[in-house]
Amino acid sequence: MNDYQISAIGHIQSPYKQKFAIPRQPRLVPQAKAKLVFSADFNREEFVRGLDEFSHIWLLFRFHETADKGYSAMVRPPRLGGNARKGVFATRATFRPNAIGMSAVKLEGIEYLNGQLSLLLSGIDLLDGTPIIDIKPYLPYSDAMSDATAGFADSRPETQMTVEFSPQALAFIAQQSHYPDLHAFITNVLKQDPRPAYKKQQDGTQSYGMTLYDFNINWQVNESHNLVTSIENT
Ligand code: SAH
Repeated sequence: MNDYQISAIGHIQSPYKQKFAIPRQPRLVPQAKAKLVFSADFNREEFVRGLDEFSHIWLLFRFHETADKGYSAMVRPPRLGGNARKGVFATRATFRPNAIGMSAVKLEGIEYLNGQLSLLLSGIDLLDGTPIIDIKPYLPYSDAMSDATAGFADSRPETQMTVEFSPQALAFIAQQSHYPDLHAFITNVLKQDPRPAYKKQQDGTQSYGMTLYDFNINWQVNESHNLVTSIENT
């Protein structure tokens, strides 16, 4: 009686092609646009009728990439520098029993194109291919709590990181027109300082790479300065 079977109602198409550099919560990088593509059983306009009256929605999803890696009772939240430990249920860690995630995201629109129903979303923190298990409208009168307190995660994580682009990176951005927000998108992803906590404590220049959409992006970090060295097609 305590085991359940859950099936995805759809999947996410996201610019984030690997876990590294995805923001740790939704809405931190508003330029992150995604599509929720409904599975065949739910590919009917009736399922979302009325949803266009809402500006934001809750997504419940499966941390599918790490779901088979298990969980432990205590985790080290990145914002505590990777040192202090908290109970897994006191955090939004991905490694948790049942591997279920939840994100409140902006609903930009509903699309029904060539027989495929999709939701257009922004501000997402989800990996490409993430299975969605439920969708609910965000209800400000109940979900937004102005008196809420949040202990070790009381405010939006702020960094002092600056982001600069090499001439090659700027030229690459300029020669494409498909993603008008690309410069701001990369800037805001890097401003989050996606490095693991132990790397932030190291001196010297560090090199990193990530894939956003179908672009390989390389950058270097020195203290609080990011330099995007190159952008190439994958
Ligand atoms: N807002 C969610 C997610 C918080 S954790 C919640 O509170 O439940 C956010 C991290 O989840 C991201 O930084 C990314 O690294 C990771 N992530 C996103 N989609 C994932 C997926 N499908 N599988 C595993 N990890 C994922």
